[in-house]
Amino acid sequence: MSAITNHMPTAELQALDAAHHMHPFTTNDELAAKGARIITRAKGVYLTDSEGNQILDGMAGLWCVNIGYGRSEMAEVAARQMMELPYYNTFFMTTHVPAIALAQEVAKLAPEGLNHVFFAGSGSEANDTNIRMVRTYWAEKGKSAKTNIISRKNAYHGSSMGSGSLGGMSYMHAQGGMPIPGIHHINQPDWWAEGGDMTPEDFGLARARELEEKIAELGEDTVAAFIAEPIQGAGGVVVPPETYWPEIQRICDKYDILLIADEVICGFGRTGNWFGSQTVGIRPHIMTIAKGLSSGYQPIGGSIVCDEVAEVIGATEFNHGYTYSGHPVAAAVALENLRILQEENILDHVRDVGAPALKQGLNELADHPLVGGVSIMGMMASLPLTPHKASRAKFASDAGTVGYMCRERCFANNLVMRHVGDRMIISPPLIIDQPDIDVFMARARKALDETYAQVKAEGMLKAAS
Ligand SMILES: *Cc1c(COP(=O)(O)O)cnc(C)c1O
Repeated sequence: MSAITNHMPTAELQALDAAHHMHPFTTNDELAAKGARIITRAKGVYLTDSEGNQILDGMAGLWCVNIGYGRSEMAEVAARQMMELPYYNTFFMTTHVPAIALAQEVAKLAPEGLNHVFFAGSGSEANDTNIRMVRTYWAEKGKSAKTNIISRKNAYHGSSMGSGSLGGMSYMHAQGGMPIPGIHHINQPDWWAEGGDMTPEDFGLARARELEEKIAELGEDTVAAFIAEPIQGAGGVVVPPETYWPEIQRICDKYDILLIADEVICGFGRTGNWFGSQTVGIRPHIMTIAKGLSSGYQPIGGSIVCDEVAEVIGATEFNHGYTYSGHPVAAAVALENLRILQEENILDHVRDVGAPALKQGLNELADHPLVGGVSIMGMMASLPLTPHKASRAKFASDAGTVGYMCRERCFANNLVMRHVGDRMIISPPLIIDQPDIDVFMARARKALDETYAQVKAEGMLKAAS
């Protein structure tokens, strides 16, 4: 058996990549000029590239490799399942053991009352399912005017037409005709960037009450659902003020609006509980899952649906599904991932070891002149960069210029830390331990020092007016 691996010089592979491979969320011409970094293998929390560098992955891939890389059990389960039943669908009155077992296990781990799973191949697909499911739910209940869905600016819910419309990324909406009709966005609870002189508590309440205002504007009888990430991930790890979520819950209850928690990042241990909804204390009707469900070893996502919604949807034919809904190999691998998370007590590790160590390390980094603060929940965190800490000032340069510089300095120091605008993002594999957190902090500090020197040298240490 041969694996597809690195058997050519890096420059040749880069040239082939540039010639034929179109990258997501990338200016491909720029990348072609620069050459993509080629990742060849990974183990634990470290990636290896084609030049033999050992890179600490502070992002767990794309927020997904919760159990870390290189778990041979996952490969064995996949191989066994492929030999036994590589594929069968679940459309036509058929099912299979991996889908049954995974749905049962997910229902067991999910909060009370969330006992049904509709599978998809990704988070984007699952959110497309959610749009159609909540609208169908209300139509079946005789309230077919309830079609509007309220989301938030700077939310990320995926990249398909539906999920990208749910998301609140203006640079995505600018291309290809999004958002689709019936999706509305309120402001996000980002106190650091938008809170001005308000206290975080007052700001959290004010931003939550925008939901009530939007419901009034659209008409109470026209709103199907509100969707949000318990803690925004791709928007920059925005931990909302404590006043925010209780107020949102109150408003959803009052106006009989379904609450969809997008748990694609927060789910499966990232915040120290199985789901971010538990961490922030909300009771969603539907939870979107993907990423950590399989730790990225296989593409799989889904919607965990409450009894009430499942009952209504169950009484009709829901004309929706994906060829790979509940794919047996992906389901078997996800089930193995959940076994590892449970048997190795990885959530306890997050709560007792990983998250406190990460928090302490980042709090120490916060003394750096470029770092404006620390936003952290469990093992997702961000460091906003600023030219002036006390006023939480933004840079005069275009948003993302300094963040990008810092990301490049991180990469040069064998650390993956992403940037969202001028915020640095941290979301390591959940299994990371103290020694590797120390490595993380040392590399991050060096990268920040180098960024600071570069920002100063280029005269960019200036606040936007
Ligand atoms: C990544 C992500 C998605 C989209 O998942 P894909 O598998 O990339 O389609 C949806 N919601 C959130 C919160 C995400 O982080």
